[in-house]
Amino acid sequence: MRIGVFGGTFNPVHYGHLRAAEEVRESLGLERILFVPAGIPPLKSSELEAVKHRYSMTELAIASNRFFEISDIECKKSERSYSVDTVQELKALYPDSELFFILGTDAFMDLPNWRQPEKLTALVDFVIIARPSCVFADIANSPYLEVKKDVLLKLDQGIIDSYNATLKSGRTAVLLRITPMAVSATHIRALLQKNKSVKYLLPESVESYIISHGLYTKTGQ
Ligand code: ATP
Repeated sequence: MRIGVFGGTFNPVHYGHLRAAEEVRESLGLERILFVPAGIPPLKSSELEAVKHRYSMTELAIASNRFFEISDIECKKSERSYSVDTVQELKALYPDSELFFILGTDAFMDLPNWRQPEKLTALVDFVIIARPSCVFADIANSPYLEVKKDVLLKLDQGIIDSYNATLKSGRTAVLLRITPMAVSATHIRALLQKNKSVKYLLPESVESYIISHGLYTKTGQ
């Protein structure tokens, strides 16, 4: 089986995540997208809602898509979670499957701060999607990718829709243009803090969950 692995804090999950996952699934012909909410992620700590809430919101958000599944592999850990460990564990869980590690350009540029990035990039093929806040040209100087700047510019300009680049590890990184959606969890949290509407930025089921549990409105968040 061809499985996309989509990790994130999902704090909260929103339409930017869902649409990205759907377009990656369709473009690469993946049979499943595994959403992996981070438990205690190494890099984000403030403003992070409890893992049970982020897990439940993600579960609600993906309920209507039969190709989407959720994994508790990181959530159930009491210690910090690292993608390099998660991917190794998933490879053991799905020995006959081909895994694709999906992440946005912003997350890809952050790789040097992750645990054992060289090992991670050697373990699995990547799918890199651009966000409006971080275009493909921004990853030109990544130490983990071999790609010509003009290819990245062609992707940003829509001259090409995808490109199979090579990671320095020798693995493939599919660079995929998707519908740009300038939605971020940071923005959603800021709106909620100001008691403003977050309608149409995330599924109604997630919005209802946030409201009924009073998430993201506590003083000091
Ligand atoms: P925050 O604003 O709290 O940093 P976020 O909206 O970036 O959160 P994450 O859970 O950190 O969401 O993101 C998980 C993955 O989804 C990352 O690889 C990120 O690049 C990607 N992603 C998030 N939002 C979008 C979007 N609007 N379009 C494409 N990819 C996205």
